[in-house]
Amino acid sequence: MNLVFATNNPNKLSELQALVPDGIEILSLKDINCNEELPETNPTLEENALQKAQYVYQNYGFNCFADDTGLEIEALGGAPGVYSARYAGGECKAEDNMKKVLSKLKNEENRNAKFRTVIALIIKGEENLFQGECNGKITITKIGVEGFGYDPIFIPEGYEITFAEMSKKEKGAISHRGKVVEKLVSFLHC
Ligand code: IMP
Repeated sequence: MNLVFATNNPNKLSELQALVPDGIEILSLKDINCNEELPETNPTLEENALQKAQYVYQNYGFNCFADDTGLEIEALGGAPGVYSARYAGGECKAEDNMKKVLSKLKNEENRNAKFRTVIALIIKGEENLFQGECNGKITITKIGVEGFGYDPIFIPEGYEITFAEMSKKEKGAISHRGKVVEKLVSFLHC
């Protein structure tokens, strides 16, 4: 089965490709000649994931899925959440976002946080939503160089190292994305 993963993020694409079994071929947006930014204008992860998947399905006609992820920090009332990508401003980088989180949590004892990923799948027009979560804590400083986004400041529950100190495989076994992909794959095998 071929499925387009509606993302322009090469890190997510390679994490995903490593997580799905051989029977499912994940195509990128480049593979279908889609070179546009996908619309992502809603206030929830669920609506954004659906919006991106619908855009690809309606304009390109491929069975596809899209994801949207947020880092939800307890002491910040769930922020940055759906605004995780642009937390430090419009054109900001992961470095800027992490800096802002660490500065907001300065002197804060409650460092509980979770990553939440929603995947919207569209097959022959039929839509399905899946969700995966990973609880953990925000560090005091950045640690590690693997992964992407907020990985250097997130320690998953039960571990003493950040996502950025783990291999793709280790992270995938416990991460929000790993969990949601497991649900997606088991649905596709139905
Ligand atoms: P989006 O799903 O691409 O909108 O991701 C929102 C934000 O969360 C971006 O800043 C990503 O870099 C970040 N993000 C998404 N997934 C992960 C992850 O697995 N680890 C760390 N940061 C992530």
